Amino acid sequence: MPNWASGCVRVEGDPKDIEEFCKLFLFFDTDSMSQYFARSFIHQKWGEFKKEYLGGNIAEFGVEFAWSGHSCLVEGYPNGEECITLIEACKKHKVKVAIDTEESGFAFEEHIQCDRDGDLIEESNYMPTYVCACGEEISFPTNYDCLDEEECWKCEKVGNWRKK
Ligand SMILES: [Zn+2]
Repeated sequence: MPNWASGCVRVEGDPKDIEEFCKLFLFFDTDSMSQYFARSFIHQKWGEFKKEYLGGNIAEFGVEFAWSGHSCLVEGYPNGEECITLIEACKKHKVKVAIDTEESGFAFEEHIQCDRDGDLIEESNYMPTYVCACGEEISFPTNYDCLDEEECWKCEKVGNWRKK
């Protein structure tokens, strides 16, 4: 079993182009297809996804990447045939994409963005560490905004965290 990086993906472009781009993710009912993003899963059927997220000039939705967004979308699967990379897909479908991921196993987060010309910007960092009054340390994503409600599993105090 891989670790999973949970991603929030934002795609901008013409609705038709966004739709073609989104078809590259792996859905519940994806069967044989010519090209796809390696190990990048949307836990929905295509029809449900389309109804819920597509139709406008911006689509924003969640994707689960095995290991990391980088390994799935930038490196691609090591066969270069049916797997397309983010750069290729952005150029092909003329969309601009921004992705933020959180991986809690190794506690890293990524920011990946690519524009219509295939210009890629990538950043990957360890999540900030917080220390409880009891000394327990835990990592939370930078954008995590429920820290005051977070209970320490060790001493059971709530919201007693300071940034390390
Ligand atoms: Zn504690």
